[in-house]
Amino acid sequence: MTTKKVLTPLEIYKQLEQSNCKRCMLPSCLAFAAAVIGGQKKLEECPSLPQGVIEQLSLKLEKRSTVEPQQAEFMAKLLRKIKDLDFKAVAKERGCELDETGEILKLRSLGKIFQVDREGVLRSECHIIPWVEAPLLSYLCYPTHRQISGRWISFREIKGGIDWRGLFGSRCEMPLRRLADGHPELLADIVDLFMGREVTEFDADIALVLHPFPHIPVLICYQAPDGDLGSELNIFFDECCSENLHVKSLYTLCAGLVMMFEKIAVNHY
Ligand code: SF4
Repeated sequence: MTTKKVLTPLEIYKQLEQSNCKRCMLPSCLAFAAAVIGGQKKLEECPSLPQGVIEQLSLKLEKRSTVEPQQAEFMAKLLRKIKDLDFKAVAKERGCELDETGEILKLRSLGKIFQVDREGVLRSECHIIPWVEAPLLSYLCYPTHRQISGRWISFREIKGGIDWRGLFGSRCEMPLRRLADGHPELLADIVDLFMGREVTEFDADIALVLHPFPHIPVLICYQAPDGDLGSELNIFFDECCSENLHVKSLYTLCAGLVMMFEKIAVNHY
């Protein structure tokens, strides 16, 4: 069963006192939020959470799908890792900046600045879309790292990509191709909206490069339909992506991007 409303650790965290008082027997409010999502804690275990808020959040929690606890467990792991990260090294290695306190990482995603603190809390000038959270934290915590190479590879060439390529085709490339067919101006608009870059060295009607994260360059190549020839759309990745993000996070990121583009198309054309 899918949900209408996805509840994330951050949504719960925002309702908490954020005092890290530990009365719930966990080290921080964020750990508590992740544990609630994962089903290891109940909202009632935070003594400072008002009854009205508990009822409100409980309604959303009851609608959650069975897949989400796995996601929550993954998030909880990421939050633990973030605490121990060497922010200075991560900033240097992964194309981020450190604020003056040295405790907040600033990262540019599609032209927008996201800030991440030690608790793994994300803040941004724009609305934080739930699907960005896990891939972004994962990008910061990923154990290996490589600089951008300038060599493009297909999704199936990404480490582990063969197992995910079917899903990637049906949830990412295919819907984006249909969108571009229906709204020929969309891809050019995406370049403007998300600080992308149009590139000309590819055999495509339009080719653009986006940076969902600093060292995750994504290339979208689109060929419009021509007579009997159908349209074609392929998404490529710099080969460094294999070392900078797990294939599952890469898939989540791209599927989320396509969903966001779909919303833009519905609202603007
Ligand atoms: S008891 Fe509530 S306020 Fe205190 S740390 Fe736990 S979640 Fe935060």
